[in-house]
Amino acid sequence: MAASSIVVLGSANTDLVVQLDRRPGPGETVLGGDLAVLPGGKGANQAVAAARSGGSVVFLGAVGQDGNGDLLLESMGAAGVDVSQVARVERPTGTAMIQVTPEGENSIVVSPGANTELTSDFADRFTDIWGAAAVLVFNFECLPATVEHVATKAAEKGVRVVLNAAPAFEIEPGLLAVADPLVVNETEAVIVAGREGAPGASADPVELAERLVGRGARSVVVTLGAAGCVLAGAGVTARVPAYVVNAVDTTGAGDAFVGALACELSRGRSLEEAVRFATATSAVSVQSLGAQSSYHPRAEVEAFISSHC
Ligand code: AMP
Repeated sequence: MAASSIVVLGSANTDLVVQLDRRPGPGETVLGGDLAVLPGGKGANQAVAAARSGGSVVFLGAVGQDGNGDLLLESMGAAGVDVSQVARVERPTGTAMIQVTPEGENSIVVSPGANTELTSDFADRFTDIWGAAAVLVFNFECLPATVEHVATKAAEKGVRVVLNAAPAFEIEPGLLAVADPLVVNETEAVIVAGREGAPGASADPVELAERLVGRGARSVVVTLGAAGCVLAGAGVTARVPAYVVNAVDTTGAGDAFVGALACELSRGRSLEEAVRFATATSAVSVQSLGAQSSYHPRAEVEAFISSHC
């Protein structure tokens, strides 16, 4: 495998999206709009974003032997992700059932299905792949024990670990210590950093990022939606503003950011350079609908950057 490679070990889900006027109460049935069946899952999204950014990406994960599994493999494959090592297991493909109300509020039930097969033993079968990566990307839509096991072993081999702690919970110090960077949104940052001081104490993002570095992360990026992000680590703290764009759908913006960031790090860019490119990639993505379908090729992101200089 080329030294500039990115490996994403994580979730792949089919998103089943229905628009509703209102959510059903207990025991109630309501009629919704047409069903949209979309490729998703944070791991698959991040792999697609990294590949569209020009990275050489291998996805390690598991899907079922069903049509949804085919959909996910096709979507990742079309983006140029190497899916040759994805396991087809005797479980249903992971599924997210998403109800969207007119206010844009999402209610989501996730059935992890095949993703639960991503155990430490499963991951160990691919040591030669993730152990030779330049950058290894994780999120917490798969078993945290697997993330901890693989991330710490990979870091010992000199692999750079990008840890997107989403969904968030408190992270073991050993795992936090290999995150370079830890990528979290503001809500996740508060959960991972733990509350300090009085209840309701300030959650200033710069303070949060520095607190996470203080807790042992090698570097940290706290994303702030339309307000951009803060990065901290290696003695540098910086705020990077988001681009001002007409956002039509922010679904998967965070995954676009993580994938693009991983791509730039695999090319030897500094964290700040990588964050700036990721900020542009996610700004391009929020201007079109969907997650994977909104991830544009590198050339389009570069044209966007040039037009905003
Ligand atoms: P989030 O996961 O919502 O914090 O978003 C990740 C990144 O996507 C942010 O750090 C921004 O760079 C970008 N982003 C998200 N929402 C917007 C928006 N409305 N306009 C421009 N960029 C955005």
